[in-house]
Amino acid sequence: MADVSPRAIRGRVLTFVRAPAGAGDAQSYRYIEDGVVLVKDGHVEQVGPAAELLARLPADALVEHHADALIMPGFIDPHIHYPQTQVIASYGAQLLEWLEKYTFVEEQKFADPQHAARNAAFFLDELARNGTTTAVAYCSAHPASAEALFSAAHRRNAGMIAGTAIMNRNGPPGLLEPAHDAITASRDLIRRWHGTGRQRYAVTPRFAITSTDEQLAEAGALLKEFPTVLMQTHLDENKNEISTVKRLFPDDPSYTAVYARFGLLGPRSLFGHCIHLDDAEVALLRDNKSVAVFCPTSNLFIGSGLFNYERLVAAGVRIALATDVGGGTSYSMLRTAAEAYKVMQLQGQNLPALAAFDLMTRANAAALGLEGEIGSIAPGAFADLVVLDARATPAMAHRMEVTRDLEEELFVLMTMGDDRAVRQTYIAGRPALKLNH
Ligand SMILES: [Zn+2]
Repeated sequence: MADVSPRAIRGRVLTFVRAPAGAGDAQSYRYIEDGVVLVKDGHVEQVGPAAELLARLPADALVEHHADALIMPGFIDPHIHYPQTQVIASYGAQLLEWLEKYTFVEEQKFADPQHAARNAAFFLDELARNGTTTAVAYCSAHPASAEALFSAAHRRNAGMIAGTAIMNRNGPPGLLEPAHDAITASRDLIRRWHGTGRQRYAVTPRFAITSTDEQLAEAGALLKEFPTVLMQTHLDENKNEISTVKRLFPDDPSYTAVYARFGLLGPRSLFGHCIHLDDAEVALLRDNKSVAVFCPTSNLFIGSGLFNYERLVAAGVRIALATDVGGGTSYSMLRTAAEAYKVMQLQGQNLPALAAFDLMTRANAAALGLEGEIGSIAPGAFADLVVLDARATPAMAHRMEVTRDLEEELFVLMTMGDDRAVRQTYIAGRPALKLNH
C-alpha cells in the first residue's frame, strides 16, 4: 500500500498539541499560515513552512496546493453504529422503543454478508466525505458484519476500531446468541483483525439490558485475555433504560456499578452518553480512567437529555465527542460540534471553537489511547487529514467576509459547516475523495 512518490500537501496547517485552556489559548495549537505536510509511505514525514520545505522537496514529490483551506488531522468519531445507516432519521421514539421499532429490524439484515459489504462500503465512503478518518463502530451481532467492515477498511488502509454487538436477551431472536457463542465469535474476530494492518477490536456489549450476568462476565474475561483491545458500550442514556437496568440488576448500586462488577471499566473503555450519572458513577468512571462519550445530536434527537460536560471535566473524567449515527442525525463531526455547543449553552456552559476542534482530533485520539498515531499532524503520525473550506457555501463565504481571526473561522466552520466544507480527505496520505464539492 506504500506510495512510490512522496506527496507534499500545501495549505494552512493546523494541529493541536494539548487541550485548550479556553478561548484564545494560542499555546494549545500549532498553526502555519502557508504550510506543507510532507507525506511518505502513509505517514507524515515532515511538517513546516512551505518556504522551507518546498525548497528541499524530493524531485519526484507530488505537490497538492489547497490554497486558503485549512489542513487538519482527520476527524475521529469514537461512537457510531455502522448497521444504522438506514436507521438514521427514524421518527418519533425514545431509546427502548426506537431500538425495537427501527434498529433491531435493520440490524438483523446484517446476517447477510452481501448486505453487510454494501453497507460497509457506504459507511466508509460517507465517513471520508465528512472528513472522518477513524471511527469506533458498533457492528451488528453477526460476525459477518464485523468481517465486512474490517476487510473494507483494511483494503482502504483506514484505521477502524469495531466489534460485533454482544447480546443474549431482550432483543429479537435474529440478534441473540447464547453467551458462549457471541464471546467465541468476538475472540475469533480479535485474533483475525486486532492488529491486522490498522484495524483494532473493541469488545462490544450493546448495553447491560441485552446481556445476562454470565455474558457480561465473559465479556470482562475477554478483556483480560486481550488487554490491548478496547471496550465500548452504552451508559445512562435514558431514564426508562436506567429503571430497566435497576430491575434487571437489583443488587447493583448503579448502572455504572453493573459494568464495574464485570470488569468492563478501564482506560480503554468507552461509554456512550453518560447523561444521568450520579456522583458515585462519576467517581467510578474517573477512578477507572474510563471515557464518557458525548453524542449531542443523538441525545437531542432521541430526547435523552443534556450531557453535563463541565461537571465531568471538573470531576476529572475523560471525555470524547461522537456522532452516534443512527441515533445521531449527522455523520459530520462539524455538525456534531455545533450541537455540542448548543447542548452546553442550554446549561450555561461554553464550548470554544478551539476546544471543539481539539476534541474532534487530538483529544478523541487520546481517548482511544492513540495520540501520536492519529489526531495530530506530526512526524510519524499517519497522514490522515481533512482539508476544510470555511467559504464552502454562499452563507459561509458571506459570514467569512467579517471574521477577524482563526478562532472565528473555526467557529464559523463548526456552526455552519458540514460535508460541503470538506474539500478533501486523505487516508494514510492518499486522497479519499474523487471530486471536490
Ligand atoms: Zn450508540
